[in-house]
Amino acid sequence: MAVALDKKDVESHVDDTIKAGALRNNKDAVEILSNQSREIIDSLIKLGMDFDKDQHGVLHYTKEGAHSANRILHAGGDATGKELNTFLFNQNPHTIKYGTVVDLLIEDDICYGVTFFDGEETDNIYANNVVIASGGMGSLFQNTTNAKGISADLHGIAIEKNIEMRDMHMLQFHPTVLKDDNPQKFLLTEALRGEGAKLINSEDEYFMSKYDEREELAPRDVVSRSIFQEEQKGKEVFLDLRSFDYKFFQNRFPTISKKLEEININIKKDLIPISPAFHYAMGGIKTDLEGRVSNYKNLYAVGEAASTMVHGANRLASNSLLEGLVFGKIVSNTIKASSFHIKHKSFAKVGAPKKKSNDTNMRNTIRSMMWEKVGIIRDQKNLNDALISVEGWLKEDVGHFIRLKLLVAKEIIKEAISHTESQGAHYINKDN
Ligand SMILES: Cc1cc2nc3c(=O)[nH]c(=O)nc-3n(C[C@H](O)[C@H](O)[C@H](O)COP(=O)(O)OP(=O)(O)OC[C@H]3O[C@@H](n4cnc5c(N)ncnc54)[C@H](O)[C@@H]3O)c2cc1C
Repeated sequence: MAVALDKKDVESHVDDTIKAGALRNNKDAVEILSNQSREIIDSLIKLGMDFDKDQHGVLHYTKEGAHSANRILHAGGDATGKELNTFLFNQNPHTIKYGTVVDLLIEDDICYGVTFFDGEETDNIYANNVVIASGGMGSLFQNTTNAKGISADLHGIAIEKNIEMRDMHMLQFHPTVLKDDNPQKFLLTEALRGEGAKLINSEDEYFMSKYDEREELAPRDVVSRSIFQEEQKGKEVFLDLRSFDYKFFQNRFPTISKKLEEININIKKDLIPISPAFHYAMGGIKTDLEGRVSNYKNLYAVGEAASTMVHGANRLASNSLLEGLVFGKIVSNTIKASSFHIKHKSFAKVGAPKKKSNDTNMRNTIRSMMWEKVGIIRDQKNLNDALISVEGWLKEDVGHFIRLKLLVAKEIIKEAISHTESQGAHYINKDN
């Protein structure tokens, strides 16, 4: 997780974030992110969050792509998100009701709650305030680092309710995932390259200098496109960790080390086959800087589901967990300060979400089409073909969740078509 090291580092963190974001960021949002980072991290540490330390017991800061300083904190080696999640939950243990949100209960300009489905039946949950924190859109792409539950359902529901979306075409592809047949790809963190891992192709060429002077530490979009272009030339691409000290690697990257052992890759001898995969949505449900969704009262969005434009056209590595903390706190303060209370209202219960026998095929077709035509390198012909397909499928009798995916896909494609110039992660090849 990124943190501005001190007040002096804020300017540089803001600068790095905006440079990686190809100047598309909302500078106010970036300044909020960076200015509040030290305080929020220190308050977590005070509460007992155990970030990794060096042998002298001092917090260990590492560097990742496009950061100009060593300002990334990590926990559990390479399990920062998991450690943070567990820590925060333990600070506030509560019962979780598991289910899938299938609708927002909206009338006029007020959101009264959600409808959720527990796998057997639906129920309505009423609330004074509803915060959408449903994450990104991984389920739309064939190759993704995201967990299966990162469905984009809430983006689809928001589109159905005419909630304004923003920058839906701004999608980040992570350069380095383990190449295998699993749909959810195993991520080989950027920090590996920060610590000296190199990219090499099947012709034994360390090729990054051909594409960018920052080589392995160029921003994600640049590295992803470079690997993709090598692949298009018929070359395979690998991560080379042979220069690593094995003990250091095991301690610093325990999860990756375990995974590679399981598949019999010895980093001192073997190269690791890699490829890019869909990773992160910079755009999403449009909010103001206090998390409010534009056209409805008591509805908020935060984290990856939301668009404050803090990440611009390309998220700087490790700014996402920080965004969740900083803007999560802001939203909770906004809600605490809000005096708006809904009047009780009862919505009719609806049946289980519609399923159709062709849903699985359809989902796979959408995922491969999005990967091939709306992926790392786009062109107008592929985007127009994709739009025609999606509009056709939307006229068919499809299941509830497929319809939501199609609505989100359509929004992404429409935005990609309307942005004819490349910027950050949105790369248009004008030769086609
Ligand atoms: C492999 C991987 C490694 C990463 N590493 C880093 C890192 O080192 N540093 C960093 O800053 N960022 C990292 N990121 C990005 C970061 O983890 C995410 O951006 C961040 O977790 C988003 O947090 P969130 O709370 O917005 O959403 P999430 O953590 O994605 O949580 C969203 C939740 O909503 C649930 N949900 C979705 N749809 C529904 C529905 N219809 N009904 C009910 N629930 C629903 C999902 O199941 C999920 O539990 C990484 C991401 C991945 C995939």
